[in-house]
Parts: sequence; C-alpha cells; structure tokens
Amino acid sequence: MKKAQTSNGRGAGLVIFVLVVLIGLVILGVKVFSPEAPAIRLTNPVKALGKSTELRVEVSDPRHRIKAVSIRVEQKGKAFKLPVAVAVAHPPGPPWWKFWASRPVSRWTVTARAGQQELPALHQGHARIVITAVNNSWGRFFRGGRSVMVLRLPVRFSPPQIYVLTTQNNVTDGGCAMVVFRVSRGTVLSGVQVGPYFFRSYPMPKAKHDTRLCLFAFPYGVPPSTPAHLMARDDAGNVTLANFDYRVLPRKFHRGKIVLTHSFMERLVPPIMSESPQLKNQGSLLKNFLQINRQLRQTDTALLFKYGQETTHHFLWSKPFLALPHSKVEAGYGDARSYFYHGKVVDHEVHLGYDLASVAHAPVPAANNGKVVFTGYLGIFGNAVILDHGCGLETLYGHLSRIDVKPGQTVRRGQTIGHTGQTGLALGDHLHFGVLLDGIQVDPIEWWDPHWIHDQILIKLTAAR
Ligand SMILES: [Zn+2]
Repeated sequence: MKKAQTSNGRGAGLVIFVLVVLIGLVILGVKVFSPEAPAIRLTNPVKALGKSTELRVEVSDPRHRIKAVSIRVEQKGKAFKLPVAVAVAHPPGPPWWKFWASRPVSRWTVTARAGQQELPALHQGHARIVITAVNNSWGRFFRGGRSVMVLRLPVRFSPPQIYVLTTQNNVTDGGCAMVVFRVSRGTVLSGVQVGPYFFRSYPMPKAKHDTRLCLFAFPYGVPPSTPAHLMARDDAGNVTLANFDYRVLPRKFHRGKIVLTHSFMERLVPPIMSESPQLKNQGSLLKNFLQINRQLRQTDTALLFKYGQETTHHFLWSKPFLALPHSKVEAGYGDARSYFYHGKVVDHEVHLGYDLASVAHAPVPAANNGKVVFTGYLGIFGNAVILDHGCGLETLYGHLSRIDVKPGQTVRRGQTIGHTGQTGLALGDHLHFGVLLDGIQVDPIEWWDPHWIHDQILIKLTAAR
C-alpha cells in the first residue's frame, strides 16, 4: 500500500510538470504566432487622389505598442513611399511580462499627402494606396504583428467645372441673393465664398446635370468691396474658384444710442445671469451687463451658427415670409448702438434682426412653412424658437413669454409657435425676429417683400428648370 502511494505521488508530479510545460508552450506559441495586429482606420473619407490629397489614418492597438506605420502609392508596377507625419500616443502600461494585465490602447495618428505635387510621376487614372502598420508583439516570428489596408482610388488632377446660369445676382449690403449654376461630375461641395463666409449650394429641384442653387449674403460688417467667388471641390480635393456677375448695393445703417441706467440694468441683468450658468458674477451691475452684451452675445452667435447647419436640402416654403401682425418696428437690422453709462460710452453692439412690438403676449406666427430646429432659452434672445425653411435659410423668434412648439415638429406658415414677451435682453414686450443664412444673421426685410421673393428667388427657380 505504501509503495503504491509513492508511485501515485510521482505520477501526479509528472502530470503537473507536463501540464506546466504545455501551458508555457501554448503561451509562447500564442505570443509568437498570434495574429494580433494593430487596427487601421481611415479618419478622412478619401474618395480620390488629386493635386495634393490628405490621408489621415488612425492606427490603434489595445495589447501592444505600435512600432511603425508606412504608406505607399502603387501605380502601373511602380511604388512610391510617402513621407508621413506621426502623432504618437503611448500611455504608460504594465511591464511586458505581465501579459495578463490589461493595457492602455496604443494609438498613432498618421497624416500624409499624396497627389501630383508630392508624386510628379503619378498619372490620372487609378492608383492603389497601401497602408501598413506593425506592432511590437512576438507575432509573425518575432517581427511584430502586421496589418495592411489597401485602397483603390481614382486619380484626378483637373479641377471641377462651374457653369453659371443666372445673370442678375445683385445683393444689398446685409442682404441675400441667389445664384444658380451647374457643376461637373465628381463635385462634392460647392457654393459661394464671401470673405470669411462660405454659403453652401443645394440641388436644384426638378433639374438635371448637377444644377445647384445657392443663397449667399453680404452680412453686416462685410465690406461691399469683398470679393465673392463660386467655389467647387471634387472628391479628389481639387478646387475651382470662379467669378460670376454680381453687384453689391451699399446702404447706410442706422446709428442709435442706449442710455444705461441702474434701474434698467437691475431689471435685466439678474434674470439673464440666473439662466446662464456659464457667466460668473463680475461684482458690479455694469460689469455683469457688459458681460451679457459682449460674451453672451458672442456665445449666442456661435449657437446660431451651429443651429444654422441643421437644414433641409430643399426649400420647405413657396410664399413670402410673414411678419408679426399689427406690429410696430422698434429696431431694424444693422442698427449700430452705442451704450452710455453716466454720460460715457461703455459699449458698442449691432442689432442684427427686427424688433416688432404689438400687444403684450401677442401670438407669434411661423413666418413660413418649416421645421422646428430649436426651442428654449438662448442667451440674450431669452426664450426662443428657430425654424428651418431649407437650403440654409432659417428664422429666429426671441424674447418669447411662451413657446408652443417642439424641436423636430413641422409648422405651417401662420401657425402660432409662441407668444411675445420680454425674456432675455429685452425691455418691454416685443418679438425679436431674425433671418439666418447658414447660421449667419442677415436682413429679414427682403424675405417679407413679395416682389423681391418673386424676382430674386421664384423666377430663378423656374427659369433654371
Ligand atoms: Zn432685437
């Protein structure tokens, strides 16, 4: 009995030894021959190679460190290696032998440019782009896990063509105009560039041959001498700038004066501060007022720009825009105001909409058919509604006492969307009505004018068809 026990003990020891060796071999095998390789992801959707097309690649590896990333272009048996710029993120992790511990993801952001400029031997037609990434694992016989991404792309060097169809493209300082044009195939973005502002074009309804319509503006503050160009960019990143006929009609804007009193600011400032947690108490009523008039106004402008991008790609309206019924104009677009306090100028701001006053809590009609983009508190505009009317055109309703619509809702021209009030930077019950083009405040007056709508928009829509 004793002898048998000893031999059993030896047998068990041998089994454990063999198991340990086997587990060790399996771990080594997994480490050396494992298919673990970095993941490659293209972060800008490249559709074609052009004059100088940017390639942006993110390589990530959750278990190993990335060792190398290379990009080459192949065409007709020739291969060109591209110089790459790399931003490396290697968060420190546990030592290599703790293979069971979880590791932070190793991530490389790689950018390169490929095109006629970088590779003069490249021809129009097609090319292959080969992206290779290697990590520092023991995979592939100790040379590192490797992954390869191959893209087959068209190569295009000739920029897109633009054919202008409209001839009368006059625009009033602060106002809008519409130009209709055609673009060649492969165009992915087109529109009008006015100084720092870019106005996108949209497909022309019921028209062929990539016909596009584009509303553009010379917003307040853009000098009439600023050049406006048509711009088209194709999938290879080739850009065309074209001239078109337009004339900017200059105008004079109204200048006004606002006298700040203690009681005026005492009424306005605390409610706005309470609704705007991002504003810090500056310790004085005047400083808080100026913070609202400057910083909060800027924040609102940025928000209007953001909501301006949420637009439908066709017009939702066909009739002139409506104003607040039976209302009196209290302020207009482009009114430049100097703010006085104790006889001294403390601020200058420009009013970029219309202030319309009727009876208190008057129902506010939707200026036109559209879709609700925003409802809620919007800084100096108080309780506000933004409606989208398509192709970058939106309307803004501010200082409301009540909001009767919800975001995403479709509204009809004339439908009550809220009631006038004095929320935000408003002294007295009125409606602040604004028109936005691509999120930039433009003069609403043209959009109320049936003749202007007919001559500048509707005629062009039918003529281009
Ligand atoms: Zn206003």
